[in-house]
Amino acid sequence: MEKRLKPMDAEQLREYGHKMVDFIADYYKTIENFPVLSQVEPGYLRNLLPDSAPNQPDSFQHVLDDIQAKILPGVTHWQSPNYFAYYPSNSSVAGFLGEMLSAGLNIVGFSWITSPAATELEMIVLDWLAKMLKLPEDFLSAGQGGGVIQGTASEAVLVVLLAARDKALRRVGKGALEKLVVYASDQTHSALQKACQIAGIHPENCRLLKANSSTNYALSPELLSETISQDLAIGLIPFFLCATVGTTSSTAVDPLLALGKFAKSNEMWFHVDAAYAGSACICPEFRHYIDGVEEADSFNMNAHKWFLTNFDCSALWVKDRSALVQALSTNPEFLKNKVTNFRLLKQTWL
Ligand code: PLP
Repeated sequence: MEKRLKPMDAEQLREYGHKMVDFIADYYKTIENFPVLSQVEPGYLRNLLPDSAPNQPDSFQHVLDDIQAKILPGVTHWQSPNYFAYYPSNSSVAGFLGEMLSAGLNIVGFSWITSPAATELEMIVLDWLAKMLKLPEDFLSAGQGGGVIQGTASEAVLVVLLAARDKALRRVGKGALEKLVVYASDQTHSALQKACQIAGIHPENCRLLKANSSTNYALSPELLSETISQDLAIGLIPFFLCATVGTTSSTAVDPLLALGKFAKSNEMWFHVDAAYAGSACICPEFRHYIDGVEEADSFNMNAHKWFLTNFDCSALWVKDRSALVQALSTNPEFLKNKVTNFRLLKQTWL
């Protein structure tokens, strides 16, 4: 006879939830026994799993056994203390417990009404974090600015690039897209280039200026100034400058103050990508690396890199949230409610 499908009840959640926590706790306890880098060959999993989804339910224990035997060999163990690639041990047990709560409550927070606590907590915590980083008050949600969580730093640079693009086009006219120019050093994360592709910036207008050992691989303000002058002379429109605090390859730090002044005098949006190193600047002894952030229009750091937070969580602050609202919001009937404006007034958020 066929087994009947029945959703789990709260008591089964308790029973299996405890088993799942035990499974994860045992994983952490024995994590050093695994080779850090998965040893499987490409395509290994297809040989181990059936061709189509099972018709019958499986026991919870059987699922865990499958994970142990078939999935864990295909995992690269980012949380292993022996992992030294990219950004090691970027999460924490506290982070994972928070994720568990979030998954259990199944928070959907695309507008204030869909979960008021989600919007309000996001705003409050990003204000806390901004204060810990000693960001200028313009980045706090009490004024025209504020923080918003993005999935990744790549999304953060994309949304601010779109806001900057539309702001520039409102100033110089819609038809000028092909004249807009973006500047950064050649050490900048490739996310910027990808954002330019998505935003329709012409590839030849994406200036990745050479940085070398004479500036410790930081972007040279002199080189930037020369390049901007040349571009202006041929009728191009500089509109976006991206500086990095802690480049991906070598943790180079661009001189924010000098670069920011150039950006301001040329009416450019100035974004600071501190995805990797930003969280370290909470420590008073490292805060000086973001001196000059007062000049920035937007600042981003990844909680999922060095802030013990599960992937993915990237904190973005802007001084003028209306620029994001104008570039990215929509207002369909099904999203309207009597407090929609709370998000628009207090936060953008998309
Ligand atoms: N910017 C910098 C300086 C980085 O180091 C990284 C990631 O390594 C990124 C941006 C991209 O981060 P994400 O994976 O969150 O998009």
